[in-house]
Amino acid sequence: MSTMSRTEGRPVCWFLTGSQPLYGEETLRQVDRQARQVVATLNQAGDIPVEVVMQPVLTEADAIRSVCMEANRADDCIGVVAWMHTFSPARSWIAGLKVLDKPLLHLHTQANVSLPWSTIDMDFMNLNQAAHGDREFGYLLARLGVRRKTVVGHASDAALRARVASWARAALGVRAARRLRLARFGDNMRDVAVTEGDKVEAQVRFGADVKAYGVNDLVAAVDSATDAEVDDLVSEYAERYELAPELAKGADRHPSLREAARIEAGLRAFLGSGGFDAFTTNFQDLGGLRQLPGISVQRLMHDGYGFGAEGDWKTAVLVRALKVMAEGLPGGTSFMEDYTYHFGPGEPKILGAHMLEVCPSIAAGTPRAEVHPLSIGNREDPVRLVFDAAPGPAFVVGLLDLGDRFRLVANDVEVVAPDEPLPRLPVARAVWKPAPSLATSAACWLSAGGPHHTVLSSALSTETLEDFAELLGVELVRIGPGTEPSGFLRELRWNDAYYRLFPAGSR
Ligand code: MN
Repeated sequence: MSTMSRTEGRPVCWFLTGSQPLYGEETLRQVDRQARQVVATLNQAGDIPVEVVMQPVLTEADAIRSVCMEANRADDCIGVVAWMHTFSPARSWIAGLKVLDKPLLHLHTQANVSLPWSTIDMDFMNLNQAAHGDREFGYLLARLGVRRKTVVGHASDAALRARVASWARAALGVRAARRLRLARFGDNMRDVAVTEGDKVEAQVRFGADVKAYGVNDLVAAVDSATDAEVDDLVSEYAERYELAPELAKGADRHPSLREAARIEAGLRAFLGSGGFDAFTTNFQDLGGLRQLPGISVQRLMHDGYGFGAEGDWKTAVLVRALKVMAEGLPGGTSFMEDYTYHFGPGEPKILGAHMLEVCPSIAAGTPRAEVHPLSIGNREDPVRLVFDAAPGPAFVVGLLDLGDRFRLVANDVEVVAPDEPLPRLPVARAVWKPAPSLATSAACWLSAGGPHHTVLSSALSTETLEDFAELLGVELVRIGPGTEPSGFLRELRWNDAYYRLFPAGSR
């Protein structure tokens, strides 16, 4: 499945230029030409993941309201970029902004890079006045409490386009969340607190539609898988991964590989026929499944599906949204779990892994397919892909339900090679140094109530994560290089007050 599979046509964002009738037709033609030039410059380098599409220059409240309603209706429109080229009286925008339901980027730019010092006259001043036109617009956005990203600079600047690109990725994530359909096989792991949550509120806030199925509904799909489908998957495993010799055709454990492939074929059929793009499993509820799904889950994640173990639908939603946001970028994105620590010698580190389900998009080399016993789940030995995660900068982010709101907790990390090989550890794993240190990171993470399940991404920047949280109006606390515990604790307390005043995260 492509992460864009349910897109009707290629996603785009719309470019709205604000002006007013006072300037006359000739000036408005110049505004139009210059806005088209800005749009062309934004598109030219190809570093923004969606095409920016010029809309007619806006001068009247009715036209503004119409274009905002059209943007809401247009399935391929992920959001709107607004620029007040001249002075666009912001009361003309009230009706439009009140109905606009798509992510907004306020682009504060102008057509020229430099001032024409020796030739500048009042005509130039009257044409190129975004410096105050956008301030008028910003005032209204602030007064209405419209969530948006504000980006300042010239379109020819790669750093500006990177900020626009980050917003566009976040907007793609918002769209993916709004359309997300998730299948839970069974319930959450019994007695666990942090994987629970309010599914109605999640649908209101993120859009994610979370549906429960008895695991034997999946078993029926597994049983319906044909031998030909199993043959194809087994060949693909042999091609793409290094197979443990015992799993090879004709070897002792080859039937385990075929059973794993049968589970994958069943999962794909079930998810495909239901239009699902995320799912959860629970080792306590495997019904007639003969193995806990391992390699199948890993490969489905690699194809863009969201996943959470132990019924953790919140993390599955987050995996899916981040997968869509990261499409086309180098690096990977995976379900992850904080497992165990290395306090020393050397710099303290976290060893992250899961029982089986880590996405090979973060692998350093070719994953190895292996079969080993699993002490929980009470089923046959499951096949899984084993690898070390590729070193480099990344972040981990978890989603929790505080009862009155959702909170995202993120930590900047550096994935590193393990200090030594891990020959007896039969699961995929990532070793990382959390910023600013293990002691501060973990203390802050625990203070925020951060979960043990996370999404690890080496593909996305924390700016995109911040844009995503901002567009959704969801709290995000970030533990990074400059974080210290007492200031972090104060931020949590201030946020408690803020979100009680503004539950939708506006203002
Ligand atoms: Mn877990």
